[in-house]
Amino acid sequence: MTPRVTAARRAELAANRAAVLDRIAAAARAAGRAPADVTLIAVTKTFPADDVVTLADIGQRDVGENRDQEAAEKATDVAAAVSAHPAVADLRWHFVGQLQRNKVASVVRYADLVHSVDRVRLVTSLDRTAAEQRDRPLDVLVQIDLTDAVPVRQPSPKASIGARGGVAPADLLALAAAIADAPALRLRGVMAVAPLGADPAEAFDTLYGVSERLRAEYPQAGVISAGMSADAEAAIAHGATHVRIGTALLGGRSALR
Ligand SMILES: *Cc1c(COP(=O)(O)O)cnc(C)c1O
Repeated sequence: MTPRVTAARRAELAANRAAVLDRIAAAARAAGRAPADVTLIAVTKTFPADDVVTLADIGQRDVGENRDQEAAEKATDVAAAVSAHPAVADLRWHFVGQLQRNKVASVVRYADLVHSVDRVRLVTSLDRTAAEQRDRPLDVLVQIDLTDAVPVRQPSPKASIGARGGVAPADLLALAAAIADAPALRLRGVMAVAPLGADPAEAFDTLYGVSERLRAEYPQAGVISAGMSADAEAAIAHGATHVRIGTALLGGRSALR
């Protein structure tokens, strides 16, 4: 079997993943939840396809990307490794970035779950394309913009990462209704990024309330995608079912994105 990365990188990814899984398990237990109820999504943006293949080899099943061009190329490269690395066939690809309509045809080809649906025009476009290109419905989350729903506690100098987009909580049910009416889409839940400078616990508590309102009408929409390297514990304490972890698993990224 051809090694895709150095033994040192493989060991680093395995150790990082074990540590992140420990964090998730500890946070889940502290919240009275089962560790298995929280899915780890490895956010592999800026890292090479070889890292994704290696992660698959060591048991990672869910991977996330935030830019279509990078994700499409990586998904193709990863899929090509299947004969020596059969685990890549079981990968689930999550699209967690802001989605433009001109990227929909591409994203629908490799994504298993799109986290960032935030406008009706995108619903229409995803539905039409999924109906044409897929033999089963595409799972989607509504991205919630918590900016105006949660007070800013401390001004932060850092640029926001992946936080653009989303609907205000008040607009969620209208968008959910559009998704529910789209035959090629399946509404699975909500996603959010804690606003910059906000207390993550406060943000994720608000998100939980938003999710409860959604589930009252759509009981199957139970996914809460929340929490990143810095705030996964707060997200899990407030009901996150999926955490999106980049830095703590793969290391620092050179550019802010
Ligand atoms: C990059 C990114 C993450 C992962 O962030 P880390 O802080 O590196 O764990 C999670 N969610 C989204 C939407 C992202 O763009």
